[in-house]
Amino acid sequence: MKNMKMNMTKSLSSLAIAYYLLTSAQTAHAELSVLTTVSDLNALVQEIGGAEVKSESFCKGSQDPHFLEPKPSFMVKANRADLVVAIGLGLEVGWLPSILQGARNPKIQTGQAGYLEVGPAVSVLDVPSGKVTRAEGDVHPEGNPHVLLDPIRTGEISLVIAKRLGELDAPHAALFKSRAEALQKRLVEKSHDWEARIAKTGTSKIISFHKTLTYFFDRYKIQNPMILEPLPGVPPTAKHTLDVIERAKADKITLVMVENFFDPQVAVRVSKDVPQLRVEVVAVSVGGSDKVKTIDDLYENLVLAIEGKAKNG
Ligand SMILES: [Zn+2]
Repeated sequence: MKNMKMNMTKSLSSLAIAYYLLTSAQTAHAELSVLTTVSDLNALVQEIGGAEVKSESFCKGSQDPHFLEPKPSFMVKANRADLVVAIGLGLEVGWLPSILQGARNPKIQTGQAGYLEVGPAVSVLDVPSGKVTRAEGDVHPEGNPHVLLDPIRTGEISLVIAKRLGELDAPHAALFKSRAEALQKRLVEKSHDWEARIAKTGTSKIISFHKTLTYFFDRYKIQNPMILEPLPGVPPTAKHTLDVIERAKADKITLVMVENFFDPQVAVRVSKDVPQLRVEVVAVSVGGSDKVKTIDDLYENLVLAIEGKAKNG
């Protein structure tokens, strides 16, 4: 009897220790600390992660994501992160490796559970055939990385993010998954409306500055016959601008959309020679303008620009 009581006390105390270890572990990892390369990814992580995740983005919505200064403050943040979410496909190749290296955090290095590239998880457009040389520009050698401009791919990417969050925080895996599925369902439904509204405008061809809107245009059956950059990442030249003017006249193109981290001057110059051409300066990331606060706003605002109803991007 005495022996049994002792055993019980012993097992109770080991239970208490186990409970203590469990709760202290939970307190230490109360919320996952996530860093994203771009603001659209941050918007997705915040919606999917909810109160269980703390997340922020290196690149602001108003900044060009190809070129970002890898500040020491980014490395300090990355040192404490559980997960870094990137687009990949070469988008962040000029700055993310320096941040990861400077972070001195083995958890978030390429190939580890704390590093996720979402771009390769969806169907990638503009993948060059054959060998890419610098003569063709050097921004998109792995295909176009601007995958989040398509609400349907964004839905797919949400599920990829939820899966990884769930692997790092298993008790909340089902919650992350259900939030991502709700996000995806909402975007799929809204996409039908966006498609109908764009079709109603009769817009079939749009000029852009860079190939940022490729996925958006592809989703809504809009051609992008000219971009103002002669090659990805190469600033407009006088000769190329003349080619754009000629093509815009010949094809009766009515709209040029300039991503708002580029200078709209060349587009305005083109529109002076092409009377029917309207210039819309647009945000292409969450936070890119006052009106684009959510991932839904991003697409809604682009649709409004095509409809000619957006004011100041
Ligand atoms: Zn690009």
